[in-house]
Amino acid sequence: MLQDKVVIADVTPIGEGLISSFIILGNDKTAVVDPGPINGYRKLKDKLGELGVEPDYIIPTHIHLDHGGAACRLARDYPGSKVYVHPRGARHLVDPSKLWNASKNVLGPVADAYGEPVPCEESIVLETRDGEKLDLGGLTVEFIHTPGHASHHQSIWVPEISLMLSGDSAGVILPRGGDRAYIPTTPPPFRLDFYTESIRKMISFAPSYIGPTHYGIYDGAVEYLERHLEQIQVWVYLAVRLAEKGETRPEAFLEEVRKIDDNAVFFLENENPIVQGSFIHTTAVGLMDYAVKLVRENRG
Ligand SMILES: [Zn+2]
Repeated sequence: MLQDKVVIADVTPIGEGLISSFIILGNDKTAVVDPGPINGYRKLKDKLGELGVEPDYIIPTHIHLDHGGAACRLARDYPGSKVYVHPRGARHLVDPSKLWNASKNVLGPVADAYGEPVPCEESIVLETRDGEKLDLGGLTVEFIHTPGHASHHQSIWVPEISLMLSGDSAGVILPRGGDRAYIPTTPPPFRLDFYTESIRKMISFAPSYIGPTHYGIYDGAVEYLERHLEQIQVWVYLAVRLAEKGETRPEAFLEEVRKIDDNAVFFLENENPIVQGSFIHTTAVGLMDYAVKLVRENRG
């Protein structure tokens, strides 16, 4: 049922099973949520060809390279398609140069693994409103603005199949044996208030399924979101305690968190450069940055 309506293209540029592109198949229209990095584009194009569909709506959850990097490339290949983005992200699709430079600073060599995005024609980039819906024929996609991971983040709600595509707004989940492992996604500049508010907002839709871009679709969505909400609070508490002792290094945070959360151990033992450089490391950088600022403000 679900598999007939949403197909995942694995667009991971190094290894596999780390970056999903979700192809949503309505009766009349097709949407692609998170086309992925430009260096994974060939895999998305092949999957669309296999399915025999052409995208009408291209929907990056946010503009980071591993989500929206291929959006404009995809739009070029399918004239008539439109790109639906959070208002704060729109200008970076039309001129990705600033985004590219910032990404190289934060991600280092992983930015090159993702690849440099191409710009979009301004006329095909549409800014979404929170709660706005698109009708695909038998399926609806609704834009839910969910800042926290990034100020320009939106999640996508598909009510007919009770699926919340959470992008990076509710952590990274990877399969672990028959179970799953998960960590927060908190690159700098991280905002705890927005992040937790967005998770509560997604819980309010009571989704059955959650599809984080990293990676796949899982049942038990509400239970997961509640556990993740607890996790982020524990991780922030730990970062703040370190910052109070004068610690600022993300590595120190990772040493501590692995002692109390076996999810962290699972991710730290994964040697894929995307997991190391883009997921777990930037999460630690964002949390320590947040904690250090918080402690400074409280003392100031
Ligand atoms: Zn991501």
